Amino acid sequence: MNILALDIGGSKLIAALLFADDSRFEIFSAAHRNLAIDCRREQLLTLIDDAVAELGNISFERVGITIPGLADSCNGIWVYACFSGIRDFPIVQILSERYGNKPIAIENDVNACALAEKKYGKCRELNDFLWITVSNGIGGGLILNGEVYSGHFGGAAEIGHFVVMDSVDGCQPPIRCGCGHFGCLEAEAAGPGIAKRYAWKLQEQHQSNPTRSTPILSAYTAHKVAELARNGDSLALSVMETTGTLLGKAASYAVNLLNLEAVIFGGGVIQSFDLLLPSLEKSFRTRLFRSANPSVKLEQTGLGYHAGLAGAAAITLF
Ligand SMILES: [Zn+2]
Repeated sequence: MNILALDIGGSKLIAALLFADDSRFEIFSAAHRNLAIDCRREQLLTLIDDAVAELGNISFERVGITIPGLADSCNGIWVYACFSGIRDFPIVQILSERYGNKPIAIENDVNACALAEKKYGKCRELNDFLWITVSNGIGGGLILNGEVYSGHFGGAAEIGHFVVMDSVDGCQPPIRCGCGHFGCLEAEAAGPGIAKRYAWKLQEQHQSNPTRSTPILSAYTAHKVAELARNGDSLALSVMETTGTLLGKAASYAVNLLNLEAVIFGGGVIQSFDLLLPSLEKSFRTRLFRSANPSVKLEQTGLGYHAGLAGAAAITLF
């Protein structure tokens, strides 16, 4: 069936028309819009209308919405957005009126990616796995017994707030997380943390050798650090190695607790998965209780760049 997918992220939204059934999905057309960091309800609805209009005169039977933060799927409420002031937003009811009361599903974006991995990706035969997004933030989506496990308060699998860096772990101080703690996985290993740790290393290098030109620290992003690592830059390679180590540490704790079949990684930073995998595997296997977890796999998503849209489609079909 034809589905209107709305993949709302922290900094952009994608509206797409796609075909999806239980075994495959195909994207026909997509429209992107940037979102301001403090985007409010009215602005968001305007941007959704605008992006859907760009898709032209489309026909669809269902709508899937994925959002960052907490979703109340049963009542169609976007409960909380970590990046903006959006709270208790009845987005399903509002869009339902615009789209002729067609069925609309809403889910947290990472949970939706986990469901899509089960339907279309590498986990079709698996019932117990964790999906980890590593992007501007870090989130987890947990599938247990073949279904999303949301937890008692709807906030399960918040692996981004595992504290993985203590001051005793390295010479650099732990980074403060948006949640208020220091050394969370999200603060240390998501895109901004990667850029920050590279900038610190450049500064250290500059202080030990002031004859070098002063580094422009704001010029570095996680993407740039990965590119430098690929070109053999030793500081960038060491930052990517530490990032892999921290991701492996968190994944091992999750698997030791839940006895999972696989941990799947997706998101922008994971486009450099090959650079992270050696230290990630080593750190994971070092901490894993092997006797209880003999064949657990660590893999990059099989959904590619469009995991979010696949997720928006998958939630309309489960
Ligand atoms: Zn945190």
